[in-house]
Amino acid sequence: MDRCLVCGRKLKSKESKEIGIGPVCLSRINKVKREQKKRHKEKIQHKQEILKGQINMFND
Ligand SMILES: [Zn+2]
Repeated sequence: MDRCLVCGRKLKSKESKEIGIGPVCLSRINKVKREQKKRHKEKIQHKQEILKGQINMFND
């Protein structure tokens, strides 16, 4: 594979060709993945806060 799967640009480095994605697109993908993970964490934290609130309600 000598073209980027994301943007279709020609790949120069051997590593990029092996993955099939150029370095620019790869870093963008990694960034998106990181943000998704972060968002997922925030969701879990939000759920835990809701649970805590419910527990507090029961204690009152
Ligand atoms: Zn690309």
